[in-house]
Amino acid sequence: MVLERIEHLATDIIKRTGATTLPIDVEAIARALNIRVAPFPMDNAVSGVLLIDSNGVPTIGYNITESRVRRRFTLAHEIGHYICHVKQGDGSRVFVDKDFKVMFRSKSPEPGEIRMEREANAFAASLLMPEFLLLEMVTDKEFDLNSEDSIRELAKTFDVSVGAMSFRLLNLGMSASYYNNQFF
Ligand SMILES: [Zn+2]
Repeated sequence: MVLERIEHLATDIIKRTGATTLPIDVEAIARALNIRVAPFPMDNAVSGVLLIDSNGVPTIGYNITESRVRRRFTLAHEIGHYICHVKQGDGSRVFVDKDFKVMFRSKSPEPGEIRMEREANAFAASLLMPEFLLLEMVTDKEFDLNSEDSIRELAKTFDVSVGAMSFRLLNLGMSASYYNNQFF
């Protein structure tokens, strides 16, 4: 799936569910999509899971032991799998997300697996940091998007990590700098 399509899907869901105030209420979006959300303590390596039962009913579980910004990102990532990778009539399915970065480093995942993880991450970034809201904010406040302080402030407003915000601005071509290797 091309990135523009993913961006469009995320924007459409935000507008359809009316969750346009910041920070984006990702749990409300899950509820509006009739996804059950079950926070629970999981093995440290697992960030989140998406379970589709045989009737097609989705449940997302996320690890409550992780930081809030990471939990928000995980929830948005699992919604991404649901929107981009689950079709009606697929039957029961399970997606398990371990540490996204560790997963890519530790073994050699299937190309299809890498593609799906990239798509779910792109969806999560689009959902938590919608381009139209970023543009509004940046135009209003005259942010210097190459300054770490501005990126920090934006990250706080959108309730995401500085690394995730920095990466998003870079991807949107709104900033030329990348701050903070800590994505979550
Ligand atoms: Zn995933």
